Amino acid sequence: MSADTPDPRYAALFEPLRIGPVTAPNRFYQVPHCTGMGHRHPRALAALRGTKAAGGWGTVCTEYCSIHPSSDVSPHSSATLWDDDDVAALAAVADAVHAHASLAGVELWAGGSGPPNLLTRTPALGVRSMPAWADPVQSRAMDRDDIRELRSWHRAAVRRARAAGFDLVYVYPCHGYLLAQFLSRAHNTRTDEYGGSLENRLRLLRELLADARDEAGDRMAIAIRFCADGHGEAHLSADEAHDAVGQLAGLADLWDVTVGDYEHEMGSSRFTPGGTLEEHAARVRALTGGPVVTVGRFTSPEAMLGPLRRGAQDLVGAARPSIADPYLPAKIRAGRPEDIRECIGCNICYAGDDRAVPIRCTQNPTMGEEWRRGWHPETVPHDNGGDSVLVVGAGPAGLEAALVLARRGFTVTVADAAREAGGRVGRESRLPGLGEWARVRDYRLGQLRPLAGVSIHLDSRLNADDVLEFGARHVVVATGARWRRDGQGRTHARPAPGFGHARVVTPDDIMDGKRLDGAVTVFDDDHYYMAPVLAEKLAGGGCVVTYVTPAARPGGWLAHTLEQEPTHRALLALGVTIVTGHRVAAFDRGVATLACEVLGGERRVATDWLLPVTAREPLDELYHALRSRRDELEAAGTATLVRAGDCDAPGIIATAVHSGHRVGRELAAAAATVGRERPRIG
Ligand code: ADP
Ligand code: SF4
Repeated sequence: MSADTPDPRYAALFEPLRIGPVTAPNRFYQVPHCTGMGHRHPRALAALRGTKAAGGWGTVCTEYCSIHPSSDVSPHSSATLWDDDDVAALAAVADAVHAHASLAGVELWAGGSGPPNLLTRTPALGVRSMPAWADPVQSRAMDRDDIRELRSWHRAAVRRARAAGFDLVYVYPCHGYLLAQFLSRAHNTRTDEYGGSLENRLRLLRELLADARDEAGDRMAIAIRFCADGHGEAHLSADEAHDAVGQLAGLADLWDVTVGDYEHEMGSSRFTPGGTLEEHAARVRALTGGPVVTVGRFTSPEAMLGPLRRGAQDLVGAARPSIADPYLPAKIRAGRPEDIRECIGCNICYAGDDRAVPIRCTQNPTMGEEWRRGWHPETVPHDNGGDSVLVVGAGPAGLEAALVLARRGFTVTVADAAREAGGRVGRESRLPGLGEWARVRDYRLGQLRPLAGVSIHLDSRLNADDVLEFGARHVVVATGARWRRDGQGRTHARPAPGFGHARVVTPDDIMDGKRLDGAVTVFDDDHYYMAPVLAEKLAGGGCVVTYVTPAARPGGWLAHTLEQEPTHRALLALGVTIVTGHRVAAFDRGVATLACEVLGGERRVATDWLLPVTAREPLDELYHALRSRRDELEAAGTATLVRAGDCDAPGIIATAVHSGHRVGRELAAAAATVGRERPRIG
């Protein structure tokens, strides 16, 4: 198939589409999504967006772009168009996108009462005075002068977006920000012409759309991101939302359809299947005539074609699928959908922004590293003539290292003690709700399979003698980690009393098939998914589960992946008893002692089993055994011994994949450089 002609099965995805005064070259549309880069990492941001365009996304948008210092998300980092000095950074994004003949979009943003403005120390502006998202400060209620000023800032931002070269500019009345607050019956208690009736509550939005049109002229299209089902009954009912769409039809060139529940819109695969916004997109398309775009975590061409054929939407919106695979459109175009690196719906990408650091992705270790480390998502230099590498361990780190090394030209042998490849990913993907995580393994095995010079040996536990005997030129140890049984972790600095008991089981025991019955106490000192998921599994299997955590809420870190609240709900729905603010201090003959973290008082809980989920131990014995025999290694012809993934430093799967990728790129290569963006003086 020629590179110019798309695979005929998927031709509909490659038809251009007129959006107001501009034309999208195809239907692949990267909707605005956070990167944690914003104004602080402009070069990294331009490289990231440019990579998406290079991979075939016909439209590539920025993240939310603050129009004024009164919308300041510090310590997080949005894009900014506060003054003319901001134009160059965003022009770099637009240029990087245009270099591949794609359209560049920018999502203008006014935060309303939410942002605390920690950097700018200026009051936030709200439809009325309301508390910030989390800080103990409130916004100022906007008077008519404020509204006039806001309109002038918004106009100026559109002008700057135009100067930066954007093709499409968003007006953004959802996700609880300023314009959503004006639309909300509950929040908008104004008695002027901006409050009361729906028509009045829509007034500011209507004015901003008209202002934007005026500034955009015939150069830029106007997009609106709109919650098609409203913002909840008390704020903007679904009927009102539909009414609003009807009233605004014609004022925007493109409708980017979302829903009021953010946990639904960007739900993790544990709780939300893909493709669930279709009915909302169809409704807006029927009301406006389109064009309409919406997301649905579409990772295959079939999933993308469905809503287009059914007339629900005109463009295939994607944030996460474009993060996991920036080259997804190019692969479909070339008729290689089997090469797509499918998003697993873990929301680690969101966690990057939520932790105020640049984005990362479990499936795509190069995400966020395009400029910083110069990593390309699809290519590595072919710079080796077949040196042998032995990779011990076929978990996410080992498989990723093997793939990169094989692509560089090494002859790669992978050995794993287990009967199946995938390490922790295979095991964890059998836990409730984590099925899609197997894609981390399957993508890598699928890519390794056709490569010459790669062999994978399962059921092959290696010791130091075996490795020496094998005599590979390079050795990568990626032997993983195991969960601790002794309770050590954040709370217990030393092994906890009684945790050596036979009735203490680890997550690994459960994943290895150990069955429990009766009462189980799960002690979560990890705060991510493992303890709640195991509690769900055990409760679902008939155990009476008590979940104990020193934290204030179950699975606290899951807030960064938008899973904390659904996790909490799931545990309650399964009848799990949740004990917060306590540690399991000791375990003895069917009794767990729980100690209050605040007052120190103790109480006893009868339990048949204790399942501590506290910390993991790196399985690094092989690495250290080999290190201590360096001379023998050298004599056997081994020049390099490195470790990767959880055996180096236990972490999340994204960390293991990134570590494996880095080892793959850097092994026997010239020293890598890492770019830093920092203010320069002079
Ligand atoms: P990571 O997340 O770092 O990739 P995993 O725990 O997922 O780590 O995978 C490590 C893999 O290494 C497991 O599949 C395990 O079976 C394998 N392994 C551990 N020790 C050995 C060994 N001595 N020889 C071969 N394979 C091993
Ligand atoms: Fe998908 Fe997870 Fe990557 Fe986000 S981090 S794009 S959810 S695989």
